[in-house]
Amino acid sequence: MKAVLFEKPHKLSVVDKDLRQLGSGEILVRVDVCGVCGTDVHIVEGTSRSNPPVVLGHEYAGTIEDVAEGVTDFTRGQKVAVDPNIACRACFFCRKGEVHLCSNLKALGVDIDGGMAEYCIVPQRQAYVLPDGFPRQAAAFIEPVSCVIHGVDRAGVKTGDTVAIIGAGTIGLLMLQLVKDAGAGRIIIIEPREKKREIAQKLGADVLIDPSGEDVSRTLRALAPEGADVVIECAGRGETAQLSVELARRGGTVELFGVCPIGTMIPLEPNKVYFKELTIVGSYVNPQTFSRAISALQRGIVRIDEFQINQFPLEEVKEALRYQSEGKTIKSMIVPSA
Ligand SMILES: [Zn+2]
Ligand SMILES: [Zn+2]
Repeated sequence: MKAVLFEKPHKLSVVDKDLRQLGSGEILVRVDVCGVCGTDVHIVEGTSRSNPPVVLGHEYAGTIEDVAEGVTDFTRGQKVAVDPNIACRACFFCRKGEVHLCSNLKALGVDIDGGMAEYCIVPQRQAYVLPDGFPRQAAAFIEPVSCVIHGVDRAGVKTGDTVAIIGAGTIGLLMLQLVKDAGAGRIIIIEPREKKREIAQKLGADVLIDPSGEDVSRTLRALAPEGADVVIECAGRGETAQLSVELARRGGTVELFGVCPIGTMIPLEPNKVYFKELTIVGSYVNPQTFSRAISALQRGIVRIDEFQINQFPLEEVKEALRYQSEGKTIKSMIVPSA
């Protein structure tokens, strides 16, 4: 089968790869679609961890082609989405129920061969059956939506809150819709690209700030003099992480959701955290939020119809990654059968 193999930083190629036999409890999935994520870009650049050589792709769905003996919950022909994060269920964290913090967490598409391929072998407990007629493109958003749902849970958005979201890329636009659903009263989007601001507006953002043209802090405080109740950084950059601390009100919450390259540092004035009594939270992957993500997309709580989506065949994976990293699209997707 054809697969996108990551071998070492800056070495990514489409190779012919043999499929191994299914092991106990595994299913074989023919991949229908696999989203390209900022994390894939970081892995290829060597700024995010992985375990090469490995087939990339952790946002994917497909059709069950075969099941190992003993697999009882799945049958051939079913459409499934794949939760890429595999917990060991035995470590300190797993036994506390914090499976996403598992000491032995392994991810399909990062540590184990993933979905940028014609086929992928998946442990059955990572698979979720999709409702009939679930759109193919929406299936590639289930994984990122599951992570954003955890982010909204962690940020503790309350009814009526003023929420500032920095960055309106894929994640920011999903966050916007999910904080709205969580009851946010006013949503302020901070995004330099006009096209993305327009999409944010269509999806219900109340205020749009262009950081290249305005003093963000001043504009925000003209609307919310004390600052935002919740600030969610979705750009994954040091300077915007620093900005989020400025934008939060006293007693507010700052969530650093965007993934900064490893080693990024920011100056932080501890006295400000003290005086403002800030809550600063992180959010890591998607503990038990996969079914909620399927439901949110199924019921239109999260819409993707306003997004620019670009589909690529496996052979054009580098172009797909470039579109994603340069912000030329809201979502690049690999469609292996294309
Ligand atoms: Zn991702
Ligand atoms: Zn564990």
